Amino acid sequence: MRLTVLGRSPARPNPGEACAGYLIEGGGSRLLFDIGPGVVAQLLRRHHPDELDAVIISHMHADHMLDLVTLRYVYPWRRLSADERLRVVLPPGSADQLLDLAKGVGGAKHFEDAFQLSEHDGISPFRFGSLTVTPRETQHYIPCWGFRVEADGRRLAYTADTAPCNGLTDLADDADLLLSEATLRSLDEDAQPPEPRGHLTPAEAGAVAQDGRARRLVLTHLPVNGDDATWARTDAAATFGSEVEIAEPSKAYEI
Ligand SMILES: [Zn+2]
Ligand SMILES: [Zn+2]
Repeated sequence: MRLTVLGRSPARPNPGEACAGYLIEGGGSRLLFDIGPGVVAQLLRRHHPDELDAVIISHMHADHMLDLVTLRYVYPWRRLSADERLRVVLPPGSADQLLDLAKGVGGAKHFEDAFQLSEHDGISPFRFGSLTVTPRETQHYIPCWGFRVEADGRRLAYTADTAPCNGLTDLADDADLLLSEATLRSLDEDAQPPEPRGHLTPAEAGAVAQDGRARRLVLTHLPVNGDDATWARTDAAATFGSEVEIAEPSKAYEI
């Protein structure tokens, strides 16, 4: 299995970088997880979207889905046949939200003429050939799902956006690679009680990887501005108990 980082930025982009976008290839399939602003330009350096089996959206925050608007412009302006349409898997209950976005950017059929839209059910695994994707709900400011991806006897877990929660250990369980968000530089940056939290510090991401007995931890969705995020790597390594990597734009990770 291979993970390629197309973008790692949080909602406020790191200079010159795209927001969330991760290509995952394995079991003969190629999937794009999340498609935040800037991701389509990165994708097109490598693949036409026809070479994807699906785009999978973790949640409906702009930094994870807004480049669906841009992706539409790669396709001709007509209703494509079922075979020609790209499969886009949305979070449960979000189709109406996407319809509102379509109307806002030009027309109700902006997406449905080019994409084969569906929602996963929030629990059940879905398959692309011999690759399996299992959604796990996380704790975020809006409904959000992380994913376990299994193919070729290997496991990758992607947290999407999340605060510490019970489901995370399950998500990370025995993963060969945990791709974890680490958006917060400190807890002050998260929502404060009584509001529920929505993100992780690097130290919390390290603890999730440790609890789940993940073999490798790659931090993403973190603010990086001209530094190498050594602070984040050090904090996460202290709780993980092993070396930690920072997701690098354009870098491929063999799993
Ligand atoms: Zn985000
Ligand atoms: Zn979010």
